[in-house]
Amino acid sequence: MYNSFSAVLPTFNASLHTMSQLWQARFFTTVNHLRDLPSTQVPEIAFAGRSNAGKSTAINILCNQKKLAFASKTPGRTQHINYFSIGGAHVGQHRKDETKVEEIRAMLVDLPGYGYAEVSGSAKLHWQELLGDYVRRREQLAALVMIIDARRPFTELDIQMVEWFAPTGKPLHCILSKADKLNRNEATNALRQARTFLGSYVDADGKPFPFTAQLFSALKRIGLDEANDRILELAGLNDEELDPTDAPDVPSDEGDQAPA
Ligand code: GDP
Repeated sequence: MYNSFSAVLPTFNASLHTMSQLWQARFFTTVNHLRDLPSTQVPEIAFAGRSNAGKSTAINILCNQKKLAFASKTPGRTQHINYFSIGGAHVGQHRKDETKVEEIRAMLVDLPGYGYAEVSGSAKLHWQELLGDYVRRREQLAALVMIIDARRPFTELDIQMVEWFAPTGKPLHCILSKADKLNRNEATNALRQARTFLGSYVDADGKPFPFTAQLFSALKRIGLDEANDRILELAGLNDEELDPTDAPDVPSDEGDQAPA
């Protein structure tokens, strides 16, 4: 059935053909308060989304790692920000070997999932402060990637995120996840509606904000290349060559990726 997406996705590919710099991602730190955000100056690409939208799955598949980002099962464990570094460690390097901080080129920032029905008032407030302040004020934030279930686009809290972020003028990329759950028409419509919604954000001169959207399925590996390329571009990493000695020691678990 995923072949039907080829018309929707011109860049459709069943898998990433080459290693990506995102594969170098490594856990860097966890932060519970904005005052504890790292002092690193490299560009940050933040990932936000409703709980269960597929954010951890998307991060893990883009970074070609099984357990980099953890699915947030309990609301109490969701109120923190996880940082993953890109650069400073080789893809095949042992996890216990130190990351060279001065060689870090960018950070992937896993923001707390939102939209848990059972979250209490004070936890909601904490979420609001943490997420709202981070996306509005963090200078190092280069772009926001929102993971949105393609079947339930732009819920109230998603819109809240966009509203917080839009005034920064920075780029936003929406990954419409779980596209495998939609048929071709539904997927086309979901993408069109998302683009229309994002296109409604214009600056004082009527110029649209740098907001983009794409379809994505971790399950069927739809839109991986497109997401990968966009994230690298947003992080300013797209024109860098990978060190050829930086090949993984072990073949990927996925089994269907071309060797580097
Ligand atoms: P998170 O809370 O946003 O981090 O969401 P998870 O990554 O934990 O995913 C939530 C659920 O959606 C899990 O059961 C995943 O297996 C499932 N899921 C994630 N991505 C996809 C996808 O591309 N297609 C389908 N059908 N299910 C997915």
